[in-house]
Amino acid sequence: MDLSKTIIEPHGGELIQRELDDVREKYLQKIDKLPEILISTWSISDLELISNGGFSPLTGFMDKRNYERVLKDMHLANGLPWTIPITLSVTKEIAKRLRVGDEVLLKGEDGIYYGVIQLQEIYEYDKKKEAQLVYQTTDPHHPGVKKLFEQGDVYLAGPIYLLNRPKHGDFEKYYMDPRQTREMFTNLGWKTIVGFQTRNPVHRAHEYLQKVALESVDGLLLNPLVGETKKDDIPADVRMKSYEVLLNNYYPLDRVRLVIYPAAMRYAGPREAVFHAIVRKNFGCTHFIVGRDHAGVGNYYGTYDAQKIFSSFDLDAIGIKLIFFEHSFFCKRCNNMASLKTCPHSEDERVIFSGTKVREMLRDGIQLPPEFTRPEVAEVLLKGKTIS
Ligand code: ADP
Repeated sequence: MDLSKTIIEPHGGELIQRELDDVREKYLQKIDKLPEILISTWSISDLELISNGGFSPLTGFMDKRNYERVLKDMHLANGLPWTIPITLSVTKEIAKRLRVGDEVLLKGEDGIYYGVIQLQEIYEYDKKKEAQLVYQTTDPHHPGVKKLFEQGDVYLAGPIYLLNRPKHGDFEKYYMDPRQTREMFTNLGWKTIVGFQTRNPVHRAHEYLQKVALESVDGLLLNPLVGETKKDDIPADVRMKSYEVLLNNYYPLDRVRLVIYPAAMRYAGPREAVFHAIVRKNFGCTHFIVGRDHAGVGNYYGTYDAQKIFSSFDLDAIGIKLIFFEHSFFCKRCNNMASLKTCPHSEDERVIFSGTKVREMLRDGIQLPPEFTRPEVAEVLLKGKTIS
C-alpha cells in the first residue's frame, strides 16, 4: 500500500522525499570537494520540511519564477495554491563565491552538514516588497519582517537533499514525518483527522475548539510549532510539558496524537493560515482549525482575516477542509466555554487574557485561573517561568 496517498492526497499529488540513503552516501563521500555555506536554524527547519515532504510539492528552495508568483498571487508557477515564500538567503559576498551548477553543502552553526543544494539560480530580491506582500506591513517591529530585513540580500534556489536530520532534543519522541503520521492514522483506523496548529500552550479556548471539532471527526493531531518563535513566546520545552499534562488529564488518549511541527513561525497571519493548512494536509490531516487571528501578532491583521483569505482560493485545490471558529472564551454567566456565536452575555462576563497579560501574570508569579487554563497547565507554565 502506498501510504503517502492514503486518507488524503498530498499537495500536488506526491509526497516529496529528499532524504535518501544512497544520495546521502554519495555526498558524504565528496564532502571535502564541495563548497559550503552556513545556514540558520530557520533554514534548517525549512530544509527538513522540504526533505520529509511536509512542504510538498516543493523539492528545494524557490526560484525567482515561483517566488514572484507566490508573492503576487499566492500560487506556485504550476498553479497550485501556496502563500509563503520558502527561500534560502545569503549575503552578496557569499553569493559571489558561488556559481549556478554548484552543489553547495548547507552547514549549521553546530558544524553539522544538514543538506546540499544543487544551485540552479542566484537572484536578488526586494525585501520591502516581500514584507508588504507577505506580512502586509514593512514595520521592522513585526517579527517576520524583522527577520526578513536582517537576512542576506540574495536568494539561492534549487533542489535540496537532506544529509543529516536535525535532532529535536527532548521532543524527539514526538517527531514524525508525514509518511509516519499517515501510516499512524491508517493503523489507528482514522479516516478524518483534524490538525491543530499552535505556538502557545493549549488554553481552555484552544481545548474548546479541538473538542468541538473532535465531536465530528475521528481523531485530533495536536501539532505544535516548535521551530523558531519570537523571544517572548513561551519556550517549546515548557509548552511540550504543558501539552503532556493536558492530554493526560483531559483528553481521550485514543483519539489524539501529539506530534511536533518543527517549522519556524512567520507570524504572517492570513497567508500563514493557508500555508499551515496545506502543510497539515501533507501530514495526512483531512481537516484544519482556523480560529481568531490565526498566526497573527500585534494588530497587523483583522480578527478573521485568516479565515476570509480562503475565499480567494479554489477550495478543491487547497484540499484540506477548514473548520472556522469565532472568538471563544469562558463565560461566567454561561458557566461554560462559549463563543461570540453562542454566548448572549456581555463582555464583562468573559474571561479573556491577551498574550501580554498572560506573560505579565506569569512574570509576577500569578497562577492563571482555571477558567482560562487548566490548573495542571497553569502550574507547568508558572514553574517554567520561574526556571527560565
Ligand atoms: P498561532 O499563532 O500559531 O495561530 P495560537 O496558539 O495563537 O497559535 O492559536 C492556535 C489556533 O487557535 C489558531 O487557529 C487560532 O486562530 C485559534 N485560537 C486561539 N485562541 C482562540 C480563541 N480565544 N478563540 C478562537 N480561536 C482561537
